[in-house]
Amino acid sequence: MTETARTAPPAAVDASAGGASATPAPGPWPRAADGELLVAGRPLSRVVEEVGATPCYVYDRTRLAARARQLRAAFPAGVLLHYAIKANPMPALVDFMAGQVDGFDVASGGELRVALDSGMAREHISFAGPGKQEAELRQAQAAGILVNLESFREVDLLARASERTGTPARVAVRVNLPFELKASGMKMSGGPKQFGVDAEQVPDLLARIRDAGLGFEGFHCFAGSQNLRAEAIVEAQQRSYDLVRGWLDLLPAPLRFLNLGGGFGIPYSDRDPVLDTAPVFDSLRDLAARAPADFGAQARLVVELGRYLVGEAGLYVCRVVDRKVSRDKVFLVTDGGMHQHLAASGNFGQVMRRNYPIAVNGRRDAREHVSVVGPLCTPLDLLGDNVELGRADPGDLVVVFQSGAYGRSASPRQFLGHPDVVEALV
Ligand SMILES: *Cc1c(COP(=O)(O)O)cnc(C)c1O
Repeated sequence: MTETARTAPPAAVDASAGGASATPAPGPWPRAADGELLVAGRPLSRVVEEVGATPCYVYDRTRLAARARQLRAAFPAGVLLHYAIKANPMPALVDFMAGQVDGFDVASGGELRVALDSGMAREHISFAGPGKQEAELRQAQAAGILVNLESFREVDLLARASERTGTPARVAVRVNLPFELKASGMKMSGGPKQFGVDAEQVPDLLARIRDAGLGFEGFHCFAGSQNLRAEAIVEAQQRSYDLVRGWLDLLPAPLRFLNLGGGFGIPYSDRDPVLDTAPVFDSLRDLAARAPADFGAQARLVVELGRYLVGEAGLYVCRVVDRKVSRDKVFLVTDGGMHQHLAASGNFGQVMRRNYPIAVNGRRDAREHVSVVGPLCTPLDLLGDNVELGRADPGDLVVVFQSGAYGRSASPRQFLGHPDVVEALV
């Protein structure tokens, strides 16, 4: 038996329980004979001792590397793998990822600084996001990274920055596509959107880029996030490619990068399927084969992924502070909660609250249904709602899986004034 809640997706299942083979890397977390979870091959309790505090996030280098390796092996030549830092901007992790992927996508001046501190080549750093401030655009231009333009205003500001320094800013056009990414957890294109420039306005924007003398390099087509249906991702990629091909005669310079977005989702509950990546790889092979004839030998396709690269490599670990029985219901009150892991509490844009996979560390014989809550004075502070776990007492470690993305940085850590959560790359 495992200590994993029944609601757990395959990623949280004991390796010895079988069923691992169908799951693509990184697969289930291994456990030692005594039931302890193994992080980068070491018992979790030892890792937590070394970190020196709970709650903590721990990220496993071996799982980060395995996922990136799997993707790069499956990508055809000419397709670049980018990491979207927004998913997890911990500087040590970003620095590690610099050695695992071909490029980074940043979404703020702060993320850009983290990217520049890493070993990533500037040529392969790009910057997307609505409402870029003049200071951020100047920063990007000075750093020589690629700016994904999201408005005509950004062209004007970059033209000024380029004049000041005598070096034309490197730009790509972020397109608000004329279609949606179907079955996506978060749609970021199609219809009226604050992201990118409407496809209908792209010809005018290209003319403006040419007039301003900016260094045009390509397009950025990001349709949405957290998609578990390969057909939807394939359709968005193919339609994006065809759309861009329609602008060939208008390009101010040869196309160097065509960023086809990402959107690869990960399972957060047992109701979520594991994304079948094979059709996406097939589609990328098809597009990569067509690209040299359509766009020239210099053109590279880019796929940018956040959670798919890092989400399954991270654990959130908290400690049971109190075990309370209220009218026959058991509550494990922990030192961690929604202020540090908003997404696991179900309050990060989820339509319906579902439990993240959760477990108690170490072997347990007795199992019971409990609710795992945090220390905040709000019923929203819930990490596991009526989950089946091994018997736990104060001092025991509770682990939330699938916590490598949108964890610490996406949580309201000041809420109620508890100490901040520690992060460790193991
Ligand atoms: C948020 C975002 C990503 C990352 O999304 P994931 O779901 O974590 O893969 C990638 N690109 C852009 C433009 C984004 O806004």
